[in-house]
Amino acid sequence: MEKIKALKKELNQEFSSMIQPKRFSAPHLLAISTSWLFIVGVLSFATWMDSVWVWALSLPLVAGTQHGLMILMHEGAHHHISKNSRLNEWISDLFCAWPVLLDTRLYRANHLKHHLYLSTEKDPDWIRKKDLKEWRFPQTRSFFFMELGKMALWKGPREWMVIARLFFDNKSKVKAATKSLLWLTFGILAAVFPLLRPAVFAYSASLLFVFPIFQRVRSIAEHFGLEDESEINMTRDIKGTFVESFFFYPFGVGLHLSHHMFPQVPFYQLKKVHARLKESCKEKELTPHMNNHFFFGSKSVLKDLTKASTREPVRQKPSLENQAS
Ligand SMILES: [Zn+2]
Repeated sequence: MEKIKALKKELNQEFSSMIQPKRFSAPHLLAISTSWLFIVGVLSFATWMDSVWVWALSLPLVAGTQHGLMILMHEGAHHHISKNSRLNEWISDLFCAWPVLLDTRLYRANHLKHHLYLSTEKDPDWIRKKDLKEWRFPQTRSFFFMELGKMALWKGPREWMVIARLFFDNKSKVKAATKSLLWLTFGILAAVFPLLRPAVFAYSASLLFVFPIFQRVRSIAEHFGLEDESEINMTRDIKGTFVESFFFYPFGVGLHLSHHMFPQVPFYQLKKVHARLKESCKEKELTPHMNNHFFFGSKSVLKDLTKASTREPVRQKPSLENQAS
């Protein structure tokens, strides 16, 4: 524990130069705008081609980008988009959270507790999952893949509908009206312009049936099938290939251990954080949990999840205060 404390102190000082809050963070605005250009491009191409195969291919591509928008909303929840908190919230909500039926403020309230009390009875994420068998590990590969199949068929849309109900339950009337108007616009566009109907349908189908699968894989990869002995092995870093990252852990969110240890660092600096963390752990003879891939390779996450020796997370962990930013 002492070694981990020393490591955090040392690296926190080193990373302080990476945190330069600005009115607008250019990497975040670039990530948000390219995500939307990509979605519009994919749906326009599918409309133009009008082939069942192209539409089918567009679903995972749009869902992967919707997943990316959710991760950019996570950046907003950590106040990384703008140092002006109102501006940060509006950009995060309008362009990242609301289009995928989420809300930055509601998400932040849960998420910061998750950072502070990781995998304990005070962690809302852990509480929600701890009694469900799909979140208990080890589990067999067939059970794991069967659960992903169920996500695509009915569990994913059902989960997202529950989230959507919370989505419209907002304290701020202005925000509630704006988010309703945003989704109403989708409906009106589809009603008035028949040409846009397939694109609106594909966007919604990606969100309800494909996005939850990517979301589930990422959530499992972040904190499950781990040793759970200390801060450096209660969360994992996954490097992943470009394709793997696009679908399952966009915008560096696979480097989740790096994020949990240094949540004040924005997504575009996480690769540097990961490299330094690895180096520093080696110097201090610490073994952080790191994997290269989820599905393949000799040290895949899937192997961790099916390993008989993998313990379920213990109920009372050392408090991880001061992690959240
Ligand atoms: Zn976070």
